[in-house]
Amino acid sequence: MSKVHNFSAGPGILPLEVLKESSEACINFDNMNLSLLEISHRSKNYVAVMDEARALVKELFEVGDEYEVLFLGGGASMQFAMVPYNLLTDKGYAAYLNTGVWASKAIKESKIIGNTKVIASSEDKNFSYIPKGYEIPNDADYFHITSNNTIYGTQLKSFPKCEVPLVCDMSSDLFSRKVNAKDFTLIYAGAQKNIGPAGSTMVMVKKDALGKTGRKMLSMLDYQVHIKGESMYNTPPVFPVYVTMLTLRWLKKNGGIAWIERLNQEKADLLYNEIDRNSLFYGTTAKEDRSNMNVCFLPTKTELEAEFDKLWKSANIDGIRGHRDVGGYRASIYNAMPIESVKVLVDVMKDFESKFV
Ligand SMILES: *Cc1c(COP(=O)(O)O)cnc(C)c1O
Repeated sequence: MSKVHNFSAGPGILPLEVLKESSEACINFDNMNLSLLEISHRSKNYVAVMDEARALVKELFEVGDEYEVLFLGGGASMQFAMVPYNLLTDKGYAAYLNTGVWASKAIKESKIIGNTKVIASSEDKNFSYIPKGYEIPNDADYFHITSNNTIYGTQLKSFPKCEVPLVCDMSSDLFSRKVNAKDFTLIYAGAQKNIGPAGSTMVMVKKDALGKTGRKMLSMLDYQVHIKGESMYNTPPVFPVYVTMLTLRWLKKNGGIAWIERLNQEKADLLYNEIDRNSLFYGTTAKEDRSNMNVCFLPTKTELEAEFDKLWKSANIDGIRGHRDVGGYRASIYNAMPIESVKVLVDVMKDFESKFV
């Protein structure tokens, strides 16, 4: 395996042992002498995979049977539509916090389904901070937030307390830190940022919140249909769910959320400290809202950008070019990224400064 330091924003880095085990399963799954890709999703060996994946989510979130876990296709973007379709009533309205491109897309879908209000937004400053001090209406059908803004590098450091059901897009920081899952009615996440490959989307929903819209439901968009089918109403994304299950197993085996939260904090501190110290870089977001997953920074001297690019490329760093909406650099330091890779990036930044200042 080459030593590429993979800072990709998504699909993102996965643990090497998970990649190895899942490639083995492509040839010989569970000593069946069959590939995982060519067996029935109803076989007992595969049902065990789905069951374990769903159980691991509940275990890591420390929730009981009032919640159900699904692994669906369609990405987090499908959830932008399924959430209002399943929770937004005819006469009611949905409340949203607009903290970036993904939140905006969620709002767009909700507006098609029904009444939708944006309670607060940070669009005025290119989503470089998290709005604060806003009031959450207590008559909304639900309040939707995005816990981590992958493109802008901001993160909610605490979650709003509210009387209405709280819904969260956790695509890019799911299981990166401790959250009080019981405060949420619904949490969803595309797997490909932090817990698996593209193709499966985790949805955890409180059962008693469902079935209240009065709407005639299309089967494939109805959480209750998927719950009844134990996440196998139709053929699930078998391989992505398998790789996700292995990644969650890896997380649990190494010490779970407490372990990963500590490690993620260490990685983020290391990188942000260097951004603040180094005269050739500056961070793009409000300090108190800095994401521990996606670290965005700009060069102070844009004329030197090409020189910095040469340096990180020769250090085998990949995937740190910033999103086009922000520019500069974005280093995504998801769960599977070892601290050693962050140290390599920090060393390159130091080296860059010593050569050009
Ligand atoms: C990537 C991302 C999405 C979109 O995910 P898809 O699986 O591509 O639909 C939504 N929300 C957040 C926060 C993301 O980072």
